[in-house]
Amino acid sequence: MKVTEHIERANGKTLFSFEIIPPQKGSNINELYKNIDPLMEFNPPFIDVTTSREEFVYIDKGDGLLDRKITRRRPGTLGICAAIKHKYEVDTIPHLLCGGFTKEETEYMLIDCQYLGINNVMALRGDAMKHQRYFEPTAGGHPYAVDLVHQIHNLRCGQYLHETLEEGDRANFCVGVAGYPEKHLEAPSMDFDLKKLKEKVDAGADYVVTQMFFDNQKFFEFLERAKDYGINVPIIPGLKPIAVKRHLQLLPQVFKIDLPDALIEAVDSCKSNKEVRQVGIEWAIQQSRELKEAGVPVLHYYSMGKSDNIKAIAEAVF
Ligand code: FAD
Repeated sequence: MKVTEHIERANGKTLFSFEIIPPQKGSNINELYKNIDPLMEFNPPFIDVTTSREEFVYIDKGDGLLDRKITRRRPGTLGICAAIKHKYEVDTIPHLLCGGFTKEETEYMLIDCQYLGINNVMALRGDAMKHQRYFEPTAGGHPYAVDLVHQIHNLRCGQYLHETLEEGDRANFCVGVAGYPEKHLEAPSMDFDLKKLKEKVDAGADYVVTQMFFDNQKFFEFLERAKDYGINVPIIPGLKPIAVKRHLQLLPQVFKIDLPDALIEAVDSCKSNKEVRQVGIEWAIQQSRELKEAGVPVLHYYSMGKSDNIKAIAEAVF
């Protein structure tokens, strides 16, 4: 079922969902299941599976030096989506990236989604690679997420494929895109970023999932401003509980987001990461309760492959 159908069916009740990261190559999928199992009691209607475009391959140049130029993607996104869908009978959402993928590879991935009965996808640009200062489009790929949404939309309209199929057999994806309550780090202004978000919606995006934020006021303001721009699709807040002290520097640096002073002080005064984890859980519970009260359609958690803190939050909120 599509994400938008799950939301409609919930009839105003806030749903629980989360995203997982494919494990490092060679890891057993049972390790992943150990982190998903405890969260299934909260009935997620869908689970997202991220895509990582970078994994360095070290080439021995024969002179004792290693060459790190070749990169490849971390495998597993679609396979994990299929495995989870089958095991838990839950909808799964593969993240599709512009960076690292040609249009043709994306088309193949979408065709595989069709065969697997996966009819939700998240359309994302991806970040610059570690050795790049700015995002550089992949040759034969897309420069922006909006272009990816167009491709998915064209596929679902049968412009590229399935020309001879009946209407009901055509590809028909529900497409999610990213939104940024504190603006995307590269965007020159919030207005610019919202205009670009509107373009993604006009191109066929069916819902928005936000970047993490720690101050609900920023999310509520974002909702208002998005409405002013005519963005009327469901906007799902993405939440990440702080888990280690290093997040105080890392999260603002990587995602260009603000941390509220009260949260900084609470984390900073912790004596161990166990204490930090508890502070992160409590903060996320407060955020979640307020957002649920405000009637958000879904609370979406970035699990980063660990479920214990997400379970503690879900127990308190759902
Ligand atoms: P876009 O919508 O293309 O926007 C990127 C920037 O370009 C913005 O600043 C925007 O304002 C600007 N822009 C957009 N269109 C235009 C245009 N036509 N002309 C000029 N400027 C334009 N990353 C991963 O690698 N894997 C994942 O699985 C993943 N999952 C994510 C899930 C969520 C919910 C979120 C919020 C992010 C996720 N990301 C993931 C990170 C994401 O790839 C980065 O934030 C990336 O830098 C931007 O992606 P986007 O889809 O928002 O890009």
